[in-house]
Amino acid sequence: MSILSKRVVTLTVILAGLLVAAFPTFFPDSTDETVRIFVVIGCLVSFGALVWSWIVLRCPHCGAMLPLRGWADVYCPNCGKKAGKR
Ligand SMILES: [Zn+2]
Repeated sequence: MSILSKRVVTLTVILAGLLVAAFPTFFPDSTDETVRIFVVIGCLVSFGALVWSWIVLRCPHCGAMLPLRGWADVYCPNCGKKAGKR
């Protein structure tokens, strides 16, 4: 899997988690408990995606963690090599 597709997957899952967290607000008759459950699940999903990106978004040359911003065209902050395409 390329760095770009890892980033796309990460952002998609984070957005999906936020959507889940906001889901009960689309329904006026949802109870406080429903809202709380959805917020907890949504935050867990988003946080899980963040943790996953910390694990997989690494420099293919030296293994250092890559910054979350930017897309495919990034340079490793540790070794300075291009980490985008491989
Ligand atoms: Zn590196």
